[in-house]
Amino acid sequence: MTAAIIDGKAAAAELRADVATDVAGLPTAPGLATLLVGDDAASAIYIKNKRRMSTEVGIRDLHQHLPADISQEELSGVLEGLADDPEVTGILLQLPVPKHLDTNALLAMIPPEKDVDGLTERSAGKLILGKDGLRPCTPSGVMYLLDRAGVELEGREAVVVGRSSLVGKPQAQMLLERNATVTTCHSRTRDLAEVTRRADVLVAAAGVPKMIGADAVKPGAVVIDVGMHRLESGLCGDVDTDAVAEVASQITPVPGGVGPMTIAMLLRNTVLAARLLEVAPTSG
Ligand code: NAP
Repeated sequence: MTAAIIDGKAAAAELRADVATDVAGLPTAPGLATLLVGDDAASAIYIKNKRRMSTEVGIRDLHQHLPADISQEELSGVLEGLADDPEVTGILLQLPVPKHLDTNALLAMIPPEKDVDGLTERSAGKLILGKDGLRPCTPSGVMYLLDRAGVELEGREAVVVGRSSLVGKPQAQMLLERNATVTTCHSRTRDLAEVTRRADVLVAAAGVPKMIGADAVKPGAVVIDVGMHRLESGLCGDVDTDAVAEVASQITPVPGGVGPMTIAMLLRNTVLAARLLEVAPTSG
């Protein structure tokens, strides 16, 4: 079997076009406040791409670049101002922040209606309780790709490798919500390949280059590779794509799979946030 490629680049372009149409239909363009603290090179590139793509779909760019030595109190004050500002419909604090800052306390200051990254405790709680809200971008992007590829989830075995708050845990919850039978694996899972071979849908988000080989995949499974690694040989994911493509029915490539979906989902969340604020004022 040679797997069909799930094209994340095309899916993301499609979603961005939908978001641009939605933005044009809103009474006021959403305003996205991105906050970059310090000068981490990778974070600066991520933020630059998020701002460029936001502007392209008509979202107002309300970026702030703050000094690396900003105090917790000062940054809390900035977030408080953004939470109260009606011009700001979405807030994104680029992580990681410098080590002297308390990330959780800062995230907690973002009202759930403006939490376009979906990473605050209140957004996570809504996801667990099955309530409407803003959800983390990468696992939401995976769900979009699965739906676009016509992958049936109800009653099927889904295995997620990884249990981070950013990807693995919300991913498992989203698959469960769609009535898959979900197993979550992590670094202490015994005989990982034995567990992953049960999967009709396998999501790899462990952060270990090419760790999922053909022996870990059931013939005909759909394989989604969230991993992203820059090796001397080039970019790769958590899946040994060439080998697994011989066994799987559908597979995401790296690059061009899940990666492009993350920013596209951020843009969609920014529109959702603007709509949430229209119907309900900030709950603080
Ligand atoms: P993370 O916070 O490091 O979490 C990794 C998870 O994988 C942990 O739960 C860990 O288990 C588990 N794990 C590690 N080694 C394992 C092993 N050998 N066997 C089974 N499980 C193992 O990473 P993350 O933030 O979730 O990101 C995961 C990957 O996705 C990374 O490559 C990251 O670059 C990529 N990523 C891509 C995007 C994108 O937009 N494409 C977005 C986010 C992340 P324990 O909990 O037991 O330690």
